[in-house]
Amino acid sequence: MATGERFDLVIRGGTVFDGTGAPGLRADVGVRGERIVAFGTVTHRGDVEVDARGFAVAPGFIDVHSHDDYAVILEPEVPFKVLQGVTTDVVGNCGSGVVPFEAGLVRFRRLHPDADPTPWEGFKGYLERVDSVRPSCNVAVLIGQGSMRRGAMGNDTREPTAAELDRMKAWVREGVAAGAVGLSTGLIYEPSRYAKTDEIITLVRELRGPSGGLYATHMRNEADGLLDAVREAIRIGEEAGVPVQISHHKASGRRNWGRVRDSLALIDEARARGVDVTTDQYPYTAGSTTLAAVMQNNSFRADSPGGLGQLEGGDVLISSSPKHPEWEGRTVATLATNWGVDTEGAAQRVLDGEGDACWVVVFTMDERDVKAVLAHPTTMIGSDGVPTGGNPHPRLYGCFARVLGRYVREEKVLELPTALHRMTGMPAAKFQLLDRGTIRPGAYADLVVFDPARIDDAATYTEPRQAPTGIRAVYVNGAAVARDGRHTGARPGRGLRRGR
Ligand SMILES: [Zn+2]
Repeated sequence: MATGERFDLVIRGGTVFDGTGAPGLRADVGVRGERIVAFGTVTHRGDVEVDARGFAVAPGFIDVHSHDDYAVILEPEVPFKVLQGVTTDVVGNCGSGVVPFEAGLVRFRRLHPDADPTPWEGFKGYLERVDSVRPSCNVAVLIGQGSMRRGAMGNDTREPTAAELDRMKAWVREGVAAGAVGLSTGLIYEPSRYAKTDEIITLVRELRGPSGGLYATHMRNEADGLLDAVREAIRIGEEAGVPVQISHHKASGRRNWGRVRDSLALIDEARARGVDVTTDQYPYTAGSTTLAAVMQNNSFRADSPGGLGQLEGGDVLISSSPKHPEWEGRTVATLATNWGVDTEGAAQRVLDGEGDACWVVVFTMDERDVKAVLAHPTTMIGSDGVPTGGNPHPRLYGCFARVLGRYVREEKVLELPTALHRMTGMPAAKFQLLDRGTIRPGAYADLVVFDPARIDDAATYTEPRQAPTGIRAVYVNGAAVARDGRHTGARPGRGLRRGR
């Protein structure tokens, strides 16, 4: 055989799940350069041959909900992502975006207090920066409405003037032209939350059309007002004529447990009349946000809690407080007892000491709801990982492996081919990531080789910086980025443009 007929890589004899939800089948996968060139029985030899007998082979996982906008530039190996099999990271969620530059930087300094990158111009400039940095995974970007509103009108609570609205619309149009995959809101956060429904519809309308994208939302309320918030998200998509992605779907706060049945029914109803609504989820009963957001939403007040629901001091664990690392790993209840003050007093003291850079883990959900959302056919997987210092929520390292270990193998909430589809082919179609999320000749060679009998998350609330077990190899654009739980150092990723 001529040397020209060799492949760069052949993964032999694994059980291949192609990302469509079809059952696995025993097959070889041949790769040349960045693409899959053969699938089935591959007779060509590979310069690298991988014996995958006994392992599953799947498309690389697409994390549809991340906050790695700056991490992929500041820490381009993004080990917390590639070591769990993520090969494409969708950044710009919850309204926190990278345009305009200054307003975006203010937001992301809550995660990366010392960040000081050379400014970029627009989403085109951001994606070009990603291309030049070459992170270890691919990056798709959402247009963050909160950053735009801050850039146009600061933290004002009023409605925008016509000129301010025009500035925001121009940023959306630039993002669409640059290949952003959609627009996101974070309607519990300042200043995203000051936008009324009509203001959001006006911006989302700019996405309409063949090169537009979807509307992704951290809804105004995930607690007592959950159902109205779902109705608002659906209305925005329906009136603007744009697909909807409900972020980290859940029911927050004990008195709302069980309500995901109703919210999922609303989603089913909207789909039945032709609205394209899907959701994503991280498989944990705790969320994570800033302590500032907990306080702004009156979360400790039983009479009037906002979008996070009512929380007790014991529900709120300090995960990252860079100026006072001695607070990390303590709950607000513990600090309140130590200081002899009430819950809000303790939280306020932490906020005064740390400001916006204090992140917390909040225990707000019911395991039965987590399973009900995961079982629903409209749910994709999104880590919502927040790459802070301290002890970040374990979803940052463990999300995808936890779905496959705990919820597929042990709890049998989903079949393996279905779970893999929700992490690969389904998000690739919804976010219009061309030639990703599937195994077939012509697709990009973003691949994960793992042991379905052993895959497990290892990250915990107290020891979150642990890579999963059971993942043998991860490939991005044909290059190995992880082997046997270790990063190879390779950085073959790039910025992805919607539909291109
Ligand atoms: Zn969010």
